[in-house]
Amino acid sequence: MARAFSGIQPSGSSPHLGNYLGAFRRWAEDQQPDDVYCVVDLHAMTLPYDPQELRERTIAVATWLLAAGIDPDVSTLFVQSHVREHSELAWILNCVATTGELRRMVQFKEKSKGSESVTVGLFTYPVLQAADILLYQAREVPIGEDQRQHLELSRDIALRFNHRYGDTFTVPRPTFPPAGARIMDLQDVHAKMSKSVSSPQGIVDLLDDERATERKIKRAVTDSGGEVRAAHDKPGVTNLLDLLAAVTGATTGELEQRYQGQGYGAFKTEIAEAVNGVLRPVRQRYAELAADPGAVAEILHKGADRARAMAEDTMRTVRERVGLLR
Ligand code: ATP
Ligand code: MG
Repeated sequence: MARAFSGIQPSGSSPHLGNYLGAFRRWAEDQQPDDVYCVVDLHAMTLPYDPQELRERTIAVATWLLAAGIDPDVSTLFVQSHVREHSELAWILNCVATTGELRRMVQFKEKSKGSESVTVGLFTYPVLQAADILLYQAREVPIGEDQRQHLELSRDIALRFNHRYGDTFTVPRPTFPPAGARIMDLQDVHAKMSKSVSSPQGIVDLLDDERATERKIKRAVTDSGGEVRAAHDKPGVTNLLDLLAAVTGATTGELEQRYQGQGYGAFKTEIAEAVNGVLRPVRQRYAELAADPGAVAEILHKGADRARAMAEDTMRTVRERVGLLR
């Protein structure tokens, strides 16, 4: 039984500031011995990708998680495809979820853009995600705001399965950070910062150096009127305030006070400094760890052994409940 389960895809660019603030900074800070964290490579196959790149990104994303402070001596860190039970449970849950509920998923609508030639995998993505979480009987799922609807679906699937086949799964609860739960693209303030969709200028890539980070933040789209204030008609400034709040721990209100009458220049300079300050130790640690990918691979294999034992426990009950012959 895991306290927490969460995952990140080895998709698109390297992880960005949104992934860090919305998700894995908290995984590292809050980690407990029965937490399970996963690089979800099977999810990254749902959009067109290059096989060799997938392998490289999988190791790189795992390295970022370690650099951010996931400690393999405390929690379990592994790669999704190393534990075959994820695919097995996903199939079983595909026979519990309905096409109606999957069609309502906003991420599918956004990523498919109405096209019929996207993969079936993209359509059933949230079911695989439900399998990831339910396999470990996770009580909590620390995620960004964009995953709220998928988590609702995981809960519905768990409840339906329990009702139909008898109590089997823990019904998971999502948790969100107080700030930074939905960091927006720096150039397209109406879209979230995204590994696979955003342009390089729209994201603070964790792999960027400090000068590139500063340049991108200084060029971030702001709004007309020079006031540093969160408001519906000021999405750019609101995003930067949320970002700075997440990085410094101050509230948006405190920050509005601090920058009153100062214009955007000083505001952006301080954001860049604060972001680089928070990322500096993580970037340094990444560079050290990336020098020895073999050591990271070993951590992942040990993690998979631990995860498999937990997953196998759940699957014994599931196979029995759904009527599969032993
Ligand atoms: P992709 O574009 O390929 O879907 P992504 O940037 O959305 O990539 P994921 O791997 O799908 O990243 O998500 C990993 C975690 O990061 C999830 O918990 C998700 O909620 C969180 N997350 C993703 N984008 C943001 C964001 N812009 N702000 C805050 N959290 C985010
Ligand atoms: Mg995503």
